[in-house]
Amino acid sequence: MPGSTNPFSSLQEQVDDAGAYVSGIDEDVLKRLKHPERVLETNLTVEMDDGSLEVFKAFRSQFNGDRGPYKGGIRYHPGVTRDEVKALSGWMVYKCAVVDIPYGGGKGGIVIDPEEYSETELERITRSFASELRPLIGEDKDIPAPDVNTGQREMNWIKDSYEMLEGTTEPGVVTGKALDSGGSEGRVEATGRSTMLAAREAFSYLDRDISDATVAVQGYGNAGAITAQLLSEELDASIVAVSDSSGGIYNADGLDATAVKDFKHETGSVAGYEGATDELTNGELLTLDVDLLVPAALENAIDADIASDVQADVIAEAANGPITPDADDVLAERDVIVLPDILTNAGGVTVSYFEWVQNRQRFYWTEQRVNDELERIITESFDSIVSAYEEKDLPTFRVAAYVVALERVARAFEQAGSWP
Ligand code: GLU
Repeated sequence: MPGSTNPFSSLQEQVDDAGAYVSGIDEDVLKRLKHPERVLETNLTVEMDDGSLEVFKAFRSQFNGDRGPYKGGIRYHPGVTRDEVKALSGWMVYKCAVVDIPYGGGKGGIVIDPEEYSETELERITRSFASELRPLIGEDKDIPAPDVNTGQREMNWIKDSYEMLEGTTEPGVVTGKALDSGGSEGRVEATGRSTMLAAREAFSYLDRDISDATVAVQGYGNAGAITAQLLSEELDASIVAVSDSSGGIYNADGLDATAVKDFKHETGSVAGYEGATDELTNGELLTLDVDLLVPAALENAIDADIASDVQADVIAEAANGPITPDADDVLAERDVIVLPDILTNAGGVTVSYFEWVQNRQRFYWTEQRVNDELERIITESFDSIVSAYEEKDLPTFRVAAYVVALERVARAFEQAGSWP
């Protein structure tokens, strides 16, 4: 995990910050809502193409299931740690509560750099993890999905392994599948779409025209690239800078988001794209003088030092946990508006929810219906955060989002009671 801030401490701090504003919340309940219910840690022993064996550490954290089955992605990254997975599973609890979909939160990860392995090796690694997860997952228990470095391919393998082991069909056991394997229209674009919608709502709340806005996007994977495309295609914003782990590119007149995505697809990185006028480091990109900054990579991208140099007016967190709590304080003091991850990137899990509903009903929606329902949920959730922010005079949108979410999770927890 990048940076030195422990994301699990960040999550706990965020819950505490909001807990102080939730009237009548029991201290003991708050304590419970800061720790996962359970974490699976396993060592996957997998045969490589050359016949040798390799061992991969993997985790699945089930944070809280009071509002429904555990829900959340699985990431493949060399920086995955137990605490990172715990934090990400907690963020899923509050994310699902903010958009009011009937799920708790979970998250999984394998400590691996997927670029170093062949497709057949990745398939065996994924199927091995699926078999470890089998007793824990199921459409009414825990539902994995894509996250960093995983996508339809991995979800299809998990679904197939689970169904083979169980001797049944149960497409709703994972979401983010390919269309022909029970996936949903609009799921691939969903995280970028909700980021675009959250930014649109925020600019309208601030009485600013987003079609005049300049945008910098850090991270050009699924979330970053699609956010950039939708901001420019649907809202006419100008994408002046984008980056990935190999560096960034800039053009004051705007970059063609789709052409950059195609270029990255071909060459593996955005660096070297011919439509750029300058190259940038990630640090330079984060402190550019733009209207909207979209961190769409990993946790801790913006620490307190970077925060004090940020020049953007609005930051939309497409990644999970990209701003450390210390940086959050600096940004609040400097009146930079932060659209929190648990709202901004919630489109992914929201369309996962639509996929799961479609799988259970065996009745599939049009892309238009998916996008309309997503737009309704994101705009309503934005409005409920703004209401809490104004009515309770809260310090930031993040605190407001956690207050809305915490009230819902705490109610479910208290109604269930504690047993045994
Ligand atoms: N990995 C995504 C997230 O962090 C999506 C999770 C899901 O669809 O369950 O929200």
